[in-house]
Amino acid sequence: MELSQGAYTIQGINVLDLAQQFGTPLYVYDGEKIAQQIKTLRNAFSDTEIRVKYAAKALTNISILKLIRKHGAGVEVVSLGEAHIAMKAGFTPSEIVFTPSGVDFSEIEQAVDLGLAINIDNLSTLHKFGDKYKNTYPCGLRINPHIMAGGNYKISTGHSNSKFGISIYQFPQIMEIVQKHGVQVKGLHIHTGSEIAETDVFIKMADILFGMAADFPNLSFIDFGSGFKVAYKEGDMVTNIYDLGLKLSKAFNDFCYRYGRKLEMWIEPGKYIVSESGTFLVKANIVKPTPSVTFVGVNSGLNHLIRPMMYDAYHHIVNVSNPTGSQKIYTIVGYICETDTFGSDRKLHEVREGDVLALKNAGAYCFSMSSNYNSRLRPAEVLIVNKEAKLIRERETIDDLLKLQIEVDV
Ligand SMILES: *Cc1c(COP(=O)(O)O)cnc(C)c1O
Repeated sequence: MELSQGAYTIQGINVLDLAQQFGTPLYVYDGEKIAQQIKTLRNAFSDTEIRVKYAAKALTNISILKLIRKHGAGVEVVSLGEAHIAMKAGFTPSEIVFTPSGVDFSEIEQAVDLGLAINIDNLSTLHKFGDKYKNTYPCGLRINPHIMAGGNYKISTGHSNSKFGISIYQFPQIMEIVQKHGVQVKGLHIHTGSEIAETDVFIKMADILFGMAADFPNLSFIDFGSGFKVAYKEGDMVTNIYDLGLKLSKAFNDFCYRYGRKLEMWIEPGKYIVSESGTFLVKANIVKPTPSVTFVGVNSGLNHLIRPMMYDAYHHIVNVSNPTGSQKIYTIVGYICETDTFGSDRKLHEVREGDVLALKNAGAYCFSMSSNYNSRLRPAEVLIVNKEAKLIRERETIDDLLKLQIEVDV
């Protein structure tokens, strides 16, 4: 979203016109920005056989997935629901990697039936997988690096109590199961899940996987997961993608040389690809001065965008209806009947009731985490491609709230 000649625009379209046309609250995504982010990743890692697997949980709209596929990325899914939407968007099963956490084995069986790539994240599942599929279906292993004393795997990632992945301490048990059943391990995976700005952390994690790789002769990929950090406000530390691309590619290519074969390098960014593409438009319902603060109550809440309340996340807020008004301090809150503050003590151009406010970086983990709490309706979504605004999800109606409810005689 850019400020040009006093108007906030996306690909030249004034967001106020979008609010007028589609109503508020409204999610708007800039397709150009999504394409650009994928391109940047591919350029940064162009020295390797890079495969970008977009983490679909960040934003799961089918049209967004289609756009991402069009720009050459694959997809990473954490549920079969996401896998089915991805296939509907045109991804072939082999372009989809399934990286679930602690799911029932029947989900793994269904993923095999669909033909997805699968990263296994615990020993129990690996055991069942080996028992059932032996060497007939390959898999990847999700490794939790912990802190390893001695050996090749010495590192501290600070995530030693994470539920994710198979502990590196359990390497002997991994090998026992793999050898017993002849499991074809074709990939090693690592993903810490956090926003990581320091390039060196990725290199250290990579070294752990490289250290393990010697014991797996049939690898075809190493999957570095994600955790790429983007800026939510000016001055935020971010992952320098070009620096990371340069260093990680070099380390990876050196590893491939030692390993004896060129492997594919997979990465699974979600936030990096879609966060900045998104703008969430809301309307100021009320302006409420009190002796201590002036609240702006908007026609949305934690039911639509929960990151500020759940993660203390900062989302920049601007008043797009009054871009040249004098600036004042406001606390912007939602309409849900509990405390749902979008931003405290923010400097905004004077807010009048009816003004449209924009929350930035609303592409990742915003709509995809929305709910019907307070029996509120989920907003519509609009994608801008080729300077054209296209509705990609209808606003919900009361019928949607009742659709699955069953009214019985009581
Ligand atoms: C959520 C997730 C990602 C994406 O993380 P971002 O921080 O959005 O880039 C990648 N891989 C796995 C396995 C995930 O669960």
